[in-house]
Amino acid sequence: MTAHFPFDNSYATLPERFFTRQSPVPVATPKLIAVNTALSDRLGLTLPSDEAALAALFAGNDLPEGAAPLAQVYAGHQFGGWSPQLGDGRAVMLGEVIAPDGARFDIQLKGAGQTPYSRMGDGRAWLGPVLREYIISEAMAALGIPTTRALAAVETGEVVLREGRMPGAIFTRVASSHIRVGTFQYFAARNDTDALQSLLDHTIARHYPEAEGPSGLLGAVIVAQAKLIAAWMGVGFIHGVMNTDNMTLSGETIDYGPCAFMDIYHPEMVFSSIDQFGRYAYANQPQIAAWNLAQLATALLPLMPDRDAAIEDFTEAVNGFAARFDTEWHRVLRAKLGLETEEDGDAALAFDLLNRMAQGGADFTQTFRALSSDTPQDAGKVFAAPVAFDPWLVEYHARLGRESRTDADRITGMRAVNPALIPRNHRVEEAIQAAVSGDYAPFHRLNSALADPFTDHPEIEDLQRAPTEGERVKQTFCGT
Ligand code: AMP
Ligand code: MG
Repeated sequence: MTAHFPFDNSYATLPERFFTRQSPVPVATPKLIAVNTALSDRLGLTLPSDEAALAALFAGNDLPEGAAPLAQVYAGHQFGGWSPQLGDGRAVMLGEVIAPDGARFDIQLKGAGQTPYSRMGDGRAWLGPVLREYIISEAMAALGIPTTRALAAVETGEVVLREGRMPGAIFTRVASSHIRVGTFQYFAARNDTDALQSLLDHTIARHYPEAEGPSGLLGAVIVAQAKLIAAWMGVGFIHGVMNTDNMTLSGETIDYGPCAFMDIYHPEMVFSSIDQFGRYAYANQPQIAAWNLAQLATALLPLMPDRDAAIEDFTEAVNGFAARFDTEWHRVLRAKLGLETEEDGDAALAFDLLNRMAQGGADFTQTFRALSSDTPQDAGKVFAAPVAFDPWLVEYHARLGRESRTDADRITGMRAVNPALIPRNHRVEEAIQAAVSGDYAPFHRLNSALADPFTDHPEIEDLQRAPTEGERVKQTFCGT
């Protein structure tokens, strides 16, 4: 069977200055690592059955019929500093497919070779970041968090030079689009109002058909990002590199570089080796999202006939992000605590627990999972010093006394939002190390376990366990 992708390439019909037509640069000896057949079915793809053909397809050596490969251009603020031109420096979009349910998705090969936007880079990726993105983006999807997805991973058979000679790999990413805050910034910085208008129309048609004009789009993205950041924080996720080029208009998580799930809770937790000042620390994420949204608002200004009035409206809209985020975050926290009704003190109760967790060195995931049982006192065992937890439990019991749901229903609800399993850094690193030595079993085992994160499976207890001090991974690196 030959590959068939139901292509309908709309980005490729935008003006030529949105991208450069660019084919993937073929690789030496592609070898299949993984293909996500559940996702492929969801997209309505027909895939070849033999491995060599699959490897050639997902390496970019064979293009599926109807592909219109291109590299997108964008700009962005990286760590607050302006980069007037970025773009797909190591990624090539094959095109967009329309899934059987009518939804539109980009299919992109990451690590597909140099493009006009590669600057000094080689356009390639090594195995480590490819497997990281595969594992973590699929874990996020299983956790119910909006995200780009992993369709496939292949080895290229070529060496990539990083700290050493690393095995090259290519990741196939699926996204509802790759339109970023930085895409708008690119055209705004050039005063290219025609391009901005085309991008606005394209983005609204694609993601928010009910939105009206620039302010409608801005409002919709503010809501989507408030929900997204609250969902991240609800599972202890730290993106690590929330540059404006890594923030989508769709509200999907994108660009899994130095991201990480916290083990021990601390609001100032940072993993990224390049985030020296903690700009993208766990608890800073809402403020950074608001900062990025202010950049989006600025980029939309050239489309507004009355600039002064627009500045006033957009400022108010962006300032509204904080309250919107709080609403979403409090909703997430109430669900994590199993509170169905809403009381004024609920957020304070949740923050009190978080403070105690930070002081008591408690594992984020395990604390909430232990609370999701008929023995919530077990959560105390997650604390280095359980005394810090006990007074909180008294308050919590009092609060639960004012709920009308049965304990059984509450526990079922809590177990559906407080995962038993997250992609812990040390397990992700372990899977990568094994793969580099040619053993993909830990990668496949971790992936399949993460597909069902809300159920306890005794046979994967080792993957659920928090790392010992010696196992703990404290730093993560950019996905280059
Ligand atoms: P990121 O930090 O992954 O969001 O990437 C920032 C920018 O650097 C994007 O424009 C990427 O396309 C580019 N980039 C990252 N790695 C490479 C590479 N190996 N070769 C070329 N460009 C790259
Ligand atoms: Mg990026």
